[in-house]
Amino acid sequence: MVIDNFTFHVSRVWYRVYYGFAAVLNVAVVVGYLLWRYAPGFTGIGEAYNLDSPIALILSLIALVYLLSIYWLLAKRSLPMASLIGTALTTLGLLHGISSTDPQNTAIPYLALWLITIFLNGIYGLLVLLGSALVSSIYLLLQNELVPASISIYSWIMLGGSALLAAIGYPFWRSRFVTQQEQQMSMLSGMLRSTQEQSAILIQSITDGVIVINTEGKITLINPAAGLMTQWSVAEATGLDVELVVKLSKENGEPMEKEESPFAIALRSKQHTTQTAQLTGRKGKKQIVSLVMSPIIVGGKNMAGVAAVVRDISEERAAEQQRAEFISTASHEMRTPVAAIEGYLALALNEKVSTIDSRARGYLEKAHSSTQHLGQLFQDLLTSAKAEDGRLSNHPAVIEMGAYLEQLVEDLRFGAQKKGLAAEFVVGSGQAIDATSGDGASKKVVKPLYYIYADPDRLREAITNLFDNAVKYTDQGKVSIGLTGNNEVVQLYIRDTGAGIPAEDIPHLFQKFYRVDSSATRTVGGTGLGLFICRKIIELYQGRIWVESMPGKGSTFFINIPRLDASRAQSLQQQALGSTPPLAR
Ligand code: ADP
Repeated sequence: MVIDNFTFHVSRVWYRVYYGFAAVLNVAVVVGYLLWRYAPGFTGIGEAYNLDSPIALILSLIALVYLLSIYWLLAKRSLPMASLIGTALTTLGLLHGISSTDPQNTAIPYLALWLITIFLNGIYGLLVLLGSALVSSIYLLLQNELVPASISIYSWIMLGGSALLAAIGYPFWRSRFVTQQEQQMSMLSGMLRSTQEQSAILIQSITDGVIVINTEGKITLINPAAGLMTQWSVAEATGLDVELVVKLSKENGEPMEKEESPFAIALRSKQHTTQTAQLTGRKGKKQIVSLVMSPIIVGGKNMAGVAAVVRDISEERAAEQQRAEFISTASHEMRTPVAAIEGYLALALNEKVSTIDSRARGYLEKAHSSTQHLGQLFQDLLTSAKAEDGRLSNHPAVIEMGAYLEQLVEDLRFGAQKKGLAAEFVVGSGQAIDATSGDGASKKVVKPLYYIYADPDRLREAITNLFDNAVKYTDQGKVSIGLTGNNEVVQLYIRDTGAGIPAEDIPHLFQKFYRVDSSATRTVGGTGLGLFICRKIIELYQGRIWVESMPGKGSTFFINIPRLDASRAQSLQQQALGSTPPLAR
């Protein structure tokens, strides 16, 4: 309420004090009238103080009725407004008292009370003060028949005195009001400032880079840490295109397409994303960074930009590299003697070259199988260490997956047969080629040509691994290798009718050393590195590997690899013919 802005600044207690003051005053006039009327000893005093006047009685009664009834109703809506009317009525009574009593004598108490009222009105605010000043002026003017010249000296003194007291009261009100408002303002701005300062200090002092961009890709905030990484000053970088300041390439140093940039991906997908990349500073400093991108969504759906947290992980990467190098050197060194032991054990078990008794044969067979396992472990360790630091040898070529898989299944089917399992190759939506019959290649099946660009040896390693697993974890039924796809991807899958994988293990399956803890895996040997290596190989070709499984029914491992269209495949094949000889078919 506007009125409250002018008046409601002092504690409610003060309004109650003023209410009490007005009520006592008006009751005193009524009591005085009654005493004048019914107490003979009081007649003189009553007359002297004008308590015999019916006007004084009526004014006080009106004021009292108001104070006891309407005031409370009005006060609920606006306490200052209720006080304003109460003040006007009380002022009127006091003025009447002053004007109808002896200015030298009996008017003095009225005058004093009136001056106190004026002062209090000042305290209560401009509106209350104006209200009472208005009533006073009208009354005084009416008293003197609206002719200023005829206003008595006494009235002028009254006016002057009241103006003076109002002038003292008003600044008092104002200073309290302003002080309170200022206190509040300064408290609020202090809070705001401290919140702002806190966030500023946090963003300034954080060692991770923080970069915020708007939907146009312009930098709206960059902290000093991000400035150090990008080798741009905060002031210079702010407002610039993020692609200009944050120069990213793939982790292995290969250039990154504009639409592959994590900023572009986050703006496009409106999703939280994490990526590692190489960041090249303005002056050429190179760092491996992890980028955690969070879209800034306002009002639940509107994208306002992206906040990126950039962390320099070069040192961690270097440490990882060292570790991987150690593992690969160690496993390489150990693989050689293990291979020698395995060779000698094989010789000892060969009846053509050695003669051993049956008990010794039993021991040696156990030693041989353990050594084979150890050899596989070292091999897997070596491969996974290389896969991790990007040293996995890779000679990609154009592969036509139909012919390639047909041949591969042909090679693998003996492993399945040995365990009494059937193996089949399924092309497209279901033409099965029975690989166990051995005549798959002779069957005439019209099938599309699925070209991909990958290292055939690496791919064989991955598929063999999945096939071996399928055989390992399947007791009866069959293992199928399937091939299908669309214009973008070639999809192959390895399906078995084995034990299946519990749902809770699936998310961890492609991590290093992860093995499902079940009786099947406990009896079947393994390193837990196979699927990790598979994932690393498939990722080399921008592919994806995942599994779907029904415990008790079997599992299907899927691999998606980007498909090459025929003309691209041809041109790559021709290029290869010009440089390196054999092409995988
Ligand atoms: P391992 O050397 O133990 O086979 P992998 O990385 O190849 O290591 O596989 C990890 C785990 O995944 C295995 O221990 C096994 O529990 C589970 N697994 C893999 N393939 C299959 C499958 N076809 N059927 C059931 N479980 C499987």
